[in-house]
Amino acid sequence: MSSGGETRVIPLRLAAFAYPEGHPLAGQAGVVYAYAIVSGRGTILYDTGIGFGNDWVDRTLRPNTRDVREALLEAGISPSTVTRIVHSHLHFDHCGQDRSFPGVPIFVQRSEKKAAMEPGYTINAWVDFPGARYELVDGDHDLGAGIWILDTPGHTLGHQSMTIESTEGLVVLAGHAIFSAAEYRGEAPPAESSEPARASGERLRALHPARVYFSHDDATCP
Ligand SMILES: [Zn+2]
Ligand SMILES: [Zn+2]
Repeated sequence: MSSGGETRVIPLRLAAFAYPEGHPLAGQAGVVYAYAIVSGRGTILYDTGIGFGNDWVDRTLRPNTRDVREALLEAGISPSTVTRIVHSHLHFDHCGQDRSFPGVPIFVQRSEKKAAMEPGYTINAWVDFPGARYELVDGDHDLGAGIWILDTPGHTLGHQSMTIESTEGLVVLAGHAIFSAAEYRGEAPPAESSEPARASGERLRALHPARVYFSHDDATCP
């Protein structure tokens, strides 16, 4: 029996950008998604997209970025209902607007937070900001009401996906554990070739979810 039948998962398309030189997808257009998990117990945000005001990001990706609070409002969700943030990982295209939610607990793997402190990993000011409150997790984590954080290493050591028992059945938020709908279906080669990445992808497919959403793809599965 599903315990989360009232929970909805709402995609928030927060940015369009151009993959920069040196990236395997150089020259192609990219998108950045966050997701709102909405229930009577409040809203959980999975990622917050690219932030504002960083010259290197603006020059390199030329992003067209939406304010996550405005995106929530346009989806009919009050930003004040956001009670938790969960991150796929702490690269700058996923945590850039956490600072819009001071005091809201941010769930990341302990290993990911440690990695994010290293120079060059992310935009430090988007991780370390006034009111930042981290909840460090080791492995899978039960958020209650049929909502789980899954430890899916590969793209980064502390990468996390989510599963949600929702109105549309079991939803997987893959993040980068599987990069695209085409990769999920086996129609594109894996973006990550490491053994942990392969195992994380297989783990998500084995759940036979009703819907899979990705961080950087407009398409969903199945
Ligand atoms: Zn990343
Ligand atoms: Zn990314």
